[in-house]
Amino acid sequence: MNPLREALAAGRFCYVVELVASRLAREARLLDVAARLASCPGVVAGSVTSYAGGAPGHDPIRVGTAARARGLTPNIHLTCVSQDRDGLRKTLEDLHALGIENVFAMTGDYPTAPVGQDRPPAVFDLDSVQLVALISELRRAGMPFHVAVAVSPFKYTEADCFYQYLKLEKKIAAGADVAITQLGYDARKFRELMRYLHEGGVRTPVLGNVYLLNLRGAEKMAKGEPPGCWVAPELLEAVRRESAAGDGGQAARLERAARMVAVLRGLGYAGAYLGGTHDAGQIAWIIQRAEALAPRWEEFAAEPTYAPRDGFYLYEGGARSVSRRRHAIPVALDALGRLFPVQRESWLRRLLRGFFGWVDRFPLLARGLERVEMAIKGPAFGCQACGNCVLGHMEYVCPQTCPKQMRNGPCGGAHLGRCEVVDKPCIWGQVYERAKAANRLVDLRAYLPAPDRHLQGSSSWINYFLERAPAPPARGPGH
Ligand code: SF4
Repeated sequence: MNPLREALAAGRFCYVVELVASRLAREARLLDVAARLASCPGVVAGSVTSYAGGAPGHDPIRVGTAARARGLTPNIHLTCVSQDRDGLRKTLEDLHALGIENVFAMTGDYPTAPVGQDRPPAVFDLDSVQLVALISELRRAGMPFHVAVAVSPFKYTEADCFYQYLKLEKKIAAGADVAITQLGYDARKFRELMRYLHEGGVRTPVLGNVYLLNLRGAEKMAKGEPPGCWVAPELLEAVRRESAAGDGGQAARLERAARMVAVLRGLGYAGAYLGGTHDAGQIAWIIQRAEALAPRWEEFAAEPTYAPRDGFYLYEGGARSVSRRRHAIPVALDALGRLFPVQRESWLRRLLRGFFGWVDRFPLLARGLERVEMAIKGPAFGCQACGNCVLGHMEYVCPQTCPKQMRNGPCGGAHLGRCEVVDKPCIWGQVYERAKAANRLVDLRAYLPAPDRHLQGSSSWINYFLERAPAPPARGPGH
């Protein structure tokens, strides 16, 4: 029995409650909460976090297993942080052995560092799309996972917004069963996501995130912490005012949450993902109040929303749209690709395969070639000799220059086009701009497999022609 799977299959509006298994939460207290939630009508699962905010907490599998013993079906967060694909596979096998079906597959926040110290380099062997593909592979081998994935409609530049939706489609194509939104307080964006999926004929159910925002949380999110969570100054002000009330703003928080749930129901969301409280009494109140408010959802959806003033909306445009100006490097490399087409079988490809096969027989020569390749691609693209080159699939932007080395689109942490980890633009903004200028947005839908890390430091030219690197799907005619 999996109440989450069943409710979604039956089209019954349902609730998943987030259990933040951070170090600060006592495990016994979390399990007490799980037991109370288990008897809360409408709640179908407890979603147990992993690496929330970039810091390790309690083992989500242990917490989830204990929660299940108390009657609450767990939905275990599985992130790509600090685990390579073998570790992730092992974790999934453990989950299967424990009879846990629900996993929430996501990239995860970049690990934080103690104040005053640099962030330690972190392993991101897979991205979230590749993780979903791995889970699908295990599902085909007889492990019946039910996979949730994240999406954030609360992106306010054209590139960030487009890529969130495109990446969601990639996750669904890879095998996702349900999507869960990032938190946000903008009904227009909640509506936008539904319209995008509806117009694309995507029937995958979506749970909308409803987070009970207290003053401390609002102040942190107003500064962009944790990554991907953002609170507008106007909302921060509203929460400040509410907090001055005798109950510390609790009544206002609960009412806002119930109204948001009513809006989600009206917009066609499959359920709500409730966070920001571990109080089962508050969860029960929100559920009841949302039912009473359901007929008034359009009134609440029309209330002012909290968003950047010049934010981009997919069906309305906005000041943060991108230009269509083409850059010199892609233009030159595209021309070269047309002059020397090697991506499909041709005499030139056969010739180069023979040449690189010959070079590969002499380790010193192969090493020399790798040095030449690096001397060109290092300064031009920031190449780091991964040996699995996908520049041609990413508009000549190197995925190794992304701190999480993502290959299938941005993580959820980018804010207004800036990277969540380092102080620079998110690389995916450039990928999007170049693809749009070249009329190649459709090519960004291609799934890029995880690189073979054993090829690090070898020539990607040799690996390409000898077909050693995992191959992304071939591009369409003309490329
Ligand atoms: S460059 Fe973009 S995708 Fe990569 S870590 Fe930064 S925000 Fe995330």
